[in-house]
Amino acid sequence: MATRLPTRVAPEYTARIRGLSRNFGDRTVLDRLDLDIERGEFVALLGRSGSGKSTLLRALAGLDRDTTGELAVDGTVAVAFQEPRLLPWKRVIDNVALGLPPGGRERARDALQEVGLTARAGAWPLTLSGGEAQRASLARALVREPGLLLLDEPFSALDALTRITMHRLVLDLWDHHARDTSVLLVTHDVDEALLLADRVLVLGEGRIAHESRIEAERPRRITDLTALRDRLLG
Ligand code: ADP
Ligand code: MG
Repeated sequence: MATRLPTRVAPEYTARIRGLSRNFGDRTVLDRLDLDIERGEFVALLGRSGSGKSTLLRALAGLDRDTTGELAVDGTVAVAFQEPRLLPWKRVIDNVALGLPPGGRERARDALQEVGLTARAGAWPLTLSGGEAQRASLARALVREPGLLLLDEPFSALDALTRITMHRLVLDLWDHHARDTSVLLVTHDVDEALLLADRVLVLGEGRIAHESRIEAERPRRITDLTALRDRLLG
């Protein structure tokens, strides 16, 4: 298990990773990887299929006991996956409130409002569209007020128009939570990475093989995205 450093991360960072490694059999998937994520930063992670992106996210989420190295994460970690993984026997609001302390339903209601899903709070997950299910999944992650939000290809199963709506939503949410929440988004979509992120990383050979900072201002990107969506959706 990677050592979870007990100290608070330096105030300007949400996560610091040093020398993180993971082998499957004799295959080394993560190879002494180093990564810092700044507080409030939106990071996109690209990389070929099988390069270890999900393995890295699982390690950050504390879901993998067989990673070695050092990890320090400040605050709660929440994950949203490509498949929303809602429990079909619980209504949407109860999925979002799952595991929260008493009073959680109120917070779940607020989170559903944030993602524009108030009208579907009482619905069964199987009656949701793909985009709605992904919104519910985002609400379930946000309600935990995570210091680090991990998104593992959350939009790749959605049609192009729904994806644009979700991009806009994620930028809005990030705008609200930016001071407290850092995002690490795994995506196959380079345009998505450039649109959403402050910094784009490429995972290769088990390490961060490349990184670049995106200089375009986010308000400008939000405006462009809104205009695009309005034009496409009429
Ligand atoms: P990515 O998300 O970048 O597509 P993954 O992190 O899912 O890649 O997987 C990286 C590599 O590790 C792949 O070769 C995959 O087959 C392997 N792998 C992932 N999980 C397991 C597992 N539980 N057992 C064996 N091999 C695994
Ligand atoms: Mg993956």
